[in-house]
Formats: sequence, structure tokens, C-alpha cells
Amino acid sequence: MAVYPHLKPFGAQGFRNTVTATKLLGIGANHAEILGALKKNLLNQGDHPTLAKVIQISPSKRMSFKSHMDAALIEAKSAAARGEVPVGAVVVSPSGDVMATAGNRTRELNDPTAHAEILAIRAACASLGQERLIGHDLYVTLEPCPMCAAAISNARIARLYYGAADPKSGGVAQGPRVFAHTQCHHVPEIYDGLSATASEELLRGFFAAKRDR
Ligand SMILES: [Zn+2]
Repeated sequence: MAVYPHLKPFGAQGFRNTVTATKLLGIGANHAEILGALKKNLLNQGDHPTLAKVIQISPSKRMSFKSHMDAALIEAKSAAARGEVPVGAVVVSPSGDVMATAGNRTRELNDPTAHAEILAIRAACASLGQERLIGHDLYVTLEPCPMCAAAISNARIARLYYGAADPKSGGVAQGPRVFAHTQCHHVPEIYDGLSATASEELLRGFFAAKRDR
């Protein structure tokens, strides 16, 4: 589990609770269950930023959390079939509608910026006719790189759910840690480790097959 520098102001307790929430999401708990678990830990601790953040999630969202990581994994598999690095992303509206899905297309489009997250954000913005995705969630199978993390911040994505950690090129929990930077004006809620094993296996399989070629 990564330590997020931007959670430091919340103190160690805040970090532990974020870990708890992430783990509970990983096993399919809904936000009501997570809230219950956090409340138990925080009964005598008064106003707590992390808890407040979880409480702010809309009631409908709290009662019916649905992971869209499966759809992101399908996009990642399609990307692999096209010979692209298998990463997939899904943008979900505040009411839970899938606004866009995308997989990597850097090779196909001859475009180094055509990462799954960028393509999904672009498609969602285009269909809405707006430059921001306030209140929207982004699911992505791999930890976003610094470019995509910056795009996620600029798009004002509310919640980022990602699968596997990316020690080589990730920009969220390691490397530049874009969301922890003082120049980062919007930080989404971050939940990592969702379907991480499936995402890792896809990537491992893809690069192993490449080496054998
Ligand atoms: Zn990226």
C-alpha cells in the first residue's frame, strides 16, 4: 500500500482510514459499509477530514457503489489485442452512467499522448461539450502516469480508482506524485488496488509475449 504525501496533513490516523476504505472497496464493500467501519475507528475523534470527505459522497453513491473496473479491464484486453500496452479506462458520470471507455492507442494513432485515460477524458468531454468532468469518476487499470495525472486534475475528476501500481512510470503514488505537488490545484479522491492482480497479469502476459517474439 502506497503512502500518499497529500494525506500527510490528515496525520497517520487519516492514512490508516484511507487504507481501510481502499481495502473495503477492494472486497466490494459499499460506501455505507465503509462509513460504518470508519465511524467505529473515529467515534471519539471529532471532526476528521478523511471521514468528512467520505461523508460528502452523495447518498445514492454511498448506497450503491459499483466498480467499473471490469469494463476498464475489457478495454485493456482489447488494447493488448491491438498490440498496444494493455491499459484501459472508463469515465463514469455522477449518476453512474458510463460516459466513455478507452484503451491505449499510442501506436495506432502515432500519438504518445493517446493513453487510455486521456482518450476516455477527451471522449467524455466531447460528448458533454465541456472541458471539465466535475463529479465524474475515472477507473483505470494501471496507476496513471504524470501526464494523465495532470489531465485528471485539469478535468476535475472527483474520484480516481486504479488497479496495479506502476513503479516504472506511475505519477500518483510514486515518481513525481503529481497530486501531492503544490501546483496541483485539484486532487481527486484516490482508491488504488482495485482488480490489481488482473491488471498486473494482463501487463505481465503482454510483455512476456513481446519478449518471446
Ligand atoms: Zn498516462
